[in-house]
Amino acid sequence: MAYDIEEIRAKFPILLRKIDKKPLIYLDNTATSQTPRSVVDAVVSGYCDTKANVHRGVHTLSQEATELQEESRRRVKDYIGASSVKEVIFTRGTTEGINLVASSFGSLFPENGEIILTVMEHHANIVPWQLLQSRRPDIKIKVVDINDQGELLLSQYRSLFNDHTCMASFCHVSNVLGTVNPVKEMIEYAHSKGVPVLIDGAQAVPHMRIDVNDLDCDFYAFSSHKMYGPTGIGVLYGKREHLLRMPPYQGGGEMIAHVSFDGTTFADLPFKFEAGTPDFVGIGAFPKALDFMEEVGVGKIAEHEQELLEYAEAKMREIPGMRIFGNAPHKSAVISFLVGDIHHYDMGMLLDKLGVEVRTGHHCAQPLMHRLGISGTVRASFAAYNTREEVDAFIEALKRVIPILS
Ligand code: PLP
Repeated sequence: MAYDIEEIRAKFPILLRKIDKKPLIYLDNTATSQTPRSVVDAVVSGYCDTKANVHRGVHTLSQEATELQEESRRRVKDYIGASSVKEVIFTRGTTEGINLVASSFGSLFPENGEIILTVMEHHANIVPWQLLQSRRPDIKIKVVDINDQGELLLSQYRSLFNDHTCMASFCHVSNVLGTVNPVKEMIEYAHSKGVPVLIDGAQAVPHMRIDVNDLDCDFYAFSSHKMYGPTGIGVLYGKREHLLRMPPYQGGGEMIAHVSFDGTTFADLPFKFEAGTPDFVGIGAFPKALDFMEEVGVGKIAEHEQELLEYAEAKMREIPGMRIFGNAPHKSAVISFLVGDIHHYDMGMLLDKLGVEVRTGHHCAQPLMHRLGISGTVRASFAAYNTREEVDAFIEALKRVIPILS
């Protein structure tokens, strides 16, 4: 079936919006993607038709709400190829998933343990490990560097492993460079050294189908709002053998079997890691986002985004003074760039006046900015609903604002 861009766009109400009387050109999809009507309708229905707290009531509404949440878990399990629903933990997003692992799994790390990260990590995959380090000063963090194309130095990665290495944690796709890392190969190597691996999949899952069993990762974290789903929810996949050994991350309702002042026993997986009332409305609506991706076809979305990426980059390279950060052969549809001495913030402000919404700044990757010797970039990123005409308008807008700011 052909890629029917108009049919896809019609599913996203926000795309009809104007910015300063100009048609919205939304190129900030790496930060969050827009939401199809089907997902919005499911959220509305969650509030209007079935709202009751989950796992707590015998009444009809509570049972319906619980069923929606647990059906969502089953759907996610199948979507990511997990072996069991016990391995699918609902979180607030990628950030919480990584914090959970760093805090809980990290508490089991041996003395003088070493964690391998990379220089291209989002702060969400740096700071949780540093927080662990602040409680456990014996723990060391080692960092893999990149080459000029923005690819990880794999020989350096391999050389960082030693007898103390107890964890490797890296992104599947960089939110700045777009680099798609060879995670399967990296996981295989870590496992050959007996080291578990967490993958930050925030920027991968919106653009490719993942299979956690095939990857054989120990943990995989991602966010719904970057893959056309509701905000405020995410998923942490974890291998059951690890989750069983890990202490709870937070305490409260839902995560207990029995509580007394003499001691508490915990609920089975996955509930041991889901303290308190979850965003059950968002979780219940999440499968509609997966439906959208499956109906269009994740492969087709990726193909479409790759075409836009190549088309846009070719046109951008013709602009004098253009510097694109991240030129890996295997790259996702993210373009981080600077032009001459123009400040990224000024460029973003003026592009906005022309209806073009791009992100500016350090993109929560300050160590990477430091490595690149810059304070920030402008970042344009594509999703299923972006068009060639939008790329043309973006390039025209760039050509208009550059002389004003130069
Ligand atoms: N990791 C990467 C690579 C990201 O791009 C982001 C968000 O941009 C995150 C983690 C954090 O995601 P969230 O804010 O949804 O928890």
